[in-house]
Amino acid sequence: MRKKIIAGNWKMNKTVEEAVELAKAIKLELADCNGVDVVLCPPFTAIKAVSDVISETLINVGSQNMGSEDEGAYTGEISHAMLKELFVRYVILGHSERREYYKENDFWINKKVKKALEKNLRPIVCVGEKLEDRESGNTESVVEQQVRGSLADIPASAYTELVIAYEPVWAIGTGKTATSEQAQEVHAFIRGLIKDMVGAEAADAVRIQYGGSMKPGNASELLAQPDIDGGLIGGAALDAVSFAGIVNAGI
Ligand code: PEP
Repeated sequence: MRKKIIAGNWKMNKTVEEAVELAKAIKLELADCNGVDVVLCPPFTAIKAVSDVISETLINVGSQNMGSEDEGAYTGEISHAMLKELFVRYVILGHSERREYYKENDFWINKKVKKALEKNLRPIVCVGEKLEDRESGNTESVVEQQVRGSLADIPASAYTELVIAYEPVWAIGTGKTATSEQAQEVHAFIRGLIKDMVGAEAADAVRIQYGGSMKPGNASELLAQPDIDGGLIGGAALDAVSFAGIVNAGI
């Protein structure tokens, strides 16, 4: 039985002071979040402060990206060691905004996934099709290319650690959610791909989150689908009550 995982991606929102306020409010709402893994991913500048707020809870801290190298002349990047020092457990990699605006591709995402796993960080690897892909019937081929590329050469044993986030780009921040049937269909497809790549045991173990305008009102139905193991939440993660509502829907 896969444990559900709900992660909040705060994106480029919240100063340190605002982040502390939000983390405290989430902590109050989720004093007892035993049945679900909860991850907060603030901007880099607020990771330390958020880690401090949730230090004695079951809530985890994640980061929104991570560099693929250990250290050195990589202006603007952040390393695994810098994140681990702040008690980061999860790293979001290959988010569609990074793929689209910063031209991250599967080759680099794959390097980051390997580095994160080598350093005992848990990657949340994002994949998802654009509206034109869906409308032209190419959802599966686009998702397959991203899954095979970003997870190339990852051993079966790593699939208990890594998380895949299926996020249809057309549903992110748009208020348009994939129906639970549409989401389930792609999640089952991804699980089938993992089975083909590394075997049935890994496919059964890997957690696949849905992301794209998930809210308390639609979370229960999405999370009830057999292959949807959690959510990666953007907008609704910036409000403690909404975020907690989604977490509680997963219990
Ligand atoms: C996201 O950016 O990962 C996301 C799912 O955003 P939203 O929930 O706002 O659609």
